[in-house]
Amino acid sequence: MFKKFKTSSSVGQLLAWLWEKGYQLPKPERRGDFMKYEMVDANYSCLVHMLQNPKYAGLYVYPRFRLETSVLPDGTVIKKKRPTRSGEWQVCLEDQHPGYITLAEYEANVEKIAMNAPRHSPDSRGAANKGSALLSGLITCRRCHHKMRVHYRKRGGVSYYCQPDKRQRVNGHSCCFTITGDELERQLSEQILYAIGPAGVKAAQLASDRLAAERATARSILSNELEQLRYNADLARRRFDNVDPANRLVLDTLSSELEVALQSVAERESRLARFDCDEPQRPTPEEQAELERLGSRLETVWYDVEADGRLKQQIVRVLIEHVLADVDETSNESVLWVHWSGGHHTELRAPRGGRRGRKPPIDLPKVINTLRKVTNDEEISRALNRRGVPTERGESWTKRRVSRYRERNDIPHLMRTCNVHPVGFRSRRPLPI
Ligand SMILES: [Zn+2]
Repeated sequence: MFKKFKTSSSVGQLLAWLWEKGYQLPKPERRGDFMKYEMVDANYSCLVHMLQNPKYAGLYVYPRFRLETSVLPDGTVIKKKRPTRSGEWQVCLEDQHPGYITLAEYEANVEKIAMNAPRHSPDSRGAANKGSALLSGLITCRRCHHKMRVHYRKRGGVSYYCQPDKRQRVNGHSCCFTITGDELERQLSEQILYAIGPAGVKAAQLASDRLAAERATARSILSNELEQLRYNADLARRRFDNVDPANRLVLDTLSSELEVALQSVAERESRLARFDCDEPQRPTPEEQAELERLGSRLETVWYDVEADGRLKQQIVRVLIEHVLADVDETSNESVLWVHWSGGHHTELRAPRGGRRGRKPPIDLPKVINTLRKVTNDEEISRALNRRGVPTERGESWTKRRVSRYRERNDIPHLMRTCNVHPVGFRSRRPLPI
């Protein structure tokens, strides 16, 4: 389980793998002075507890738990017990017993779970998901330092947008900006493929070896379980044989125990037989060569529509520490500053998308100055409202607002001596906007 979590992106992915393989976990249960372990199906909280428990790294720590008290707005007091983190330990003794993992591996597991925590936590990235957005959870707004969210467009493609929370809006910050991710992600993919290209062939060779190793581990687990069940059945049989045949009550109990034990052995034997029947064919030399050829053409695999988005996000997260995003207003470009894990920085630029069809900004004084030559303030307000042009404060136009605007900008009112009749304006003639 600990070994698999190294290559899993989240606890959820590990849980899905355990369910798929049918692996169970021991659940401790106190029976009087003894502790009994029962094998049960894995669940999420049990996995998180095991992965964050320092005992599995051979540590003795104190305190293990901490009581946190919080008060709700309605005055309700809530007390919650939560496991302590390494910085909160008053006592920490290493190598107290043989551990399944090292201290470094334990800390990496705790860090991974924390980084996958819900996205409202400022430092977390969120777990890698099935979406195609490469920078999901990694990209931060350079203006307000908040995580940018992903939007998958209906027609395909990805956008990232910064949506400040309620507190920021109250403080007067509106939504920062939206950037189109397609071109930037293409440039980023090129850089990533350049970085991991040499490892591609080796990865392909390791892939089949790793599959074989995983299968050997799975068979060993099944085989050990079968051995344990056979021992239990043998023990039950010996107990049954030694009991006095006259003691019917004990005889019946032991008989049913023996029956259950034998059924478990039969079930596990058939499961092992099925496992051996399903032995996948190892790749032939030709297939191995094909695998290596594919490894050398990572680009094809990367851009394949069937490529696993979660895997790509995991690769990106290994290579990239974090990404800052902003918009360059002068050149009208989206800009990303990529901070690679090695400490290098790369700047990526792409023309801003999503502006197709947007109306260009209008020169309001010029437009009103033109309109007032042919019509009065009331008609001007209607004309501007029809075209969806708001006032400077974002409001709709009224006769009074047009008059005030003209006064502020020294624009004269309609000259009645003008030859053009205002009715001409109602005929939906295109405005000079
Ligand atoms: Zn922002």
